[in-house]
Amino acid sequence: MRREAVAVIGGGWAGLACAVELAAAGRPVTLFEAARQLGGRARRVDWNGIALDNGQHILIGAYQETLRLLERVGSAHLLERRPLEFDQPPGFRLALPRLPAPLHVGLGLIRARGLAWRDKRAAARFIQTLKRQGYRLPADTSVSDLLARQGQTPALVRHLWEPICLAALNTPLDQASAQVFCNVLRDSLGGVRAASDLLLPRADLGRLLPDAATAYLAGHGGEVRLGCRIEGIERTPRGYRLTGSDCPFGHVVCATSPTRLPALLAGLPELEPLRRRVAAYAYQPIETLWLRFERSLELPFPMLGLDQGPGQWLFDRRELAPGLASVVISAEGPHRQLTKPALLAAVLEQTKRAVGALPELRDHLSVLERRATFAAVPGLVRPATQTALPGLYLAGDHIQSDYPATLEAAVRSGIAAARAILAQAETTA
Ligand SMILES: Cc1cc2nc3c(=O)[nH]c(=O)nc-3n(C[C@H](O)[C@H](O)[C@H](O)COP(=O)(O)OP(=O)(O)OC[C@H]3O[C@@H](n4cnc5c(N)ncnc54)[C@H](O)[C@@H]3O)c2cc1C
Repeated sequence: MRREAVAVIGGGWAGLACAVELAAAGRPVTLFEAARQLGGRARRVDWNGIALDNGQHILIGAYQETLRLLERVGSAHLLERRPLEFDQPPGFRLALPRLPAPLHVGLGLIRARGLAWRDKRAAARFIQTLKRQGYRLPADTSVSDLLARQGQTPALVRHLWEPICLAALNTPLDQASAQVFCNVLRDSLGGVRAASDLLLPRADLGRLLPDAATAYLAGHGGEVRLGCRIEGIERTPRGYRLTGSDCPFGHVVCATSPTRLPALLAGLPELEPLRRRVAAYAYQPIETLWLRFERSLELPFPMLGLDQGPGQWLFDRRELAPGLASVVISAEGPHRQLTKPALLAAVLEQTKRAVGALPELRDHLSVLERRATFAAVPGLVRPATQTALPGLYLAGDHIQSDYPATLEAAVRSGIAAARAILAQAETTA
């Protein structure tokens, strides 16, 4: 047995980040992925020959570890960086100028359209208060409670705070953790100017990480086994054996989604408390409607906010196919009661209100991820990288982190697991 061999279970962004970090350090690593493709909840979907995404993803400049990973595997050029712009036609616009922090937010607010002076003053006061507190709350509460206590006006909630909360936490305001929301504000609007930049994918998600990571792993001695579901983990005197795999491993990283983790850990009684904690998570859905028009929409910015309806964001995705656009519907809400035709009609109506008359709709596809992310509720205790068993680690967007369930949380967790393994090897060398 090669005691130093590492098994990574799950080829989402957490597992890929972990495997790439290990391979970069020269460690033999085998990645097991149950599906026939890599990417997990951020993956390519084939639609009549068009490569698109299971869900439209938004990345921001604060995603430093994700950016470092994409640089390492050579795909960072597929992201288009733009200063943050919240356009919610016809009434609201907040664009952050290319000025050093915090002037970019200050001037952006002063110039914002669709907010009265009292709204702008309330927003500035709120940000200042959070800054003074180091973005730490004495006790966690819901985002709606925090906003009410901080005197945030209905216009601010509607145009700014609710869209940010849904995009980042994928949890309705009255259920979402105010502390996690503050963490997001700290690292985006409260960070350096570049941290709030939007990084818009200019290729499908498969090209962004899975393809490039596969090539990187192949070039650095890593192995990827697709279509290989690990059913269980067994402890042996010298490490671990994975059900469904022939070889033993000294270290194992479980990088599955939290929905799959309890089943994977079922044979390890030492991890029963962890298993129960993860099994108790609540989840929130995300639906993405892909719209193929006769010709591409003419948007003032490639990402527009939508108001008064089920959709929150409209994206121009013409680089994937001419005429292609996507609409994101985050979290649960009354839209879940609509029939598919009624939902499509409501989204098209919103799109029309935002951009005017629409070209003819040629085709559409709805991709619903029912358990897209765990609900980022107040006081949620998330598991650590290191488990109670030596050599067995966890990775995934649900691992303890300042971030909600996002690509950055997933990537950071994968890198943390890899570094823990590498550090352990150093101390035992
Ligand atoms: C529709 C949608 C939109 C989103 N939008 C954004 C966004 O705009 N910005 C953002 O930052 N984040 C967004 N997210 C969240 C982001 O996609 C996730 O946080 C991230 O992809 C989670 O990665 P992960 O590696 O932790 O888990 P996963 O992606 O779930 O990866 C786990 C992998 O493990 C595999 N697996 C499970 N069980 C086994 C087993 N027994 N054996 C082997 N393999 C197994 C699965 O097949 C999967 O590939 C969105 C998510 C969705 C669904």
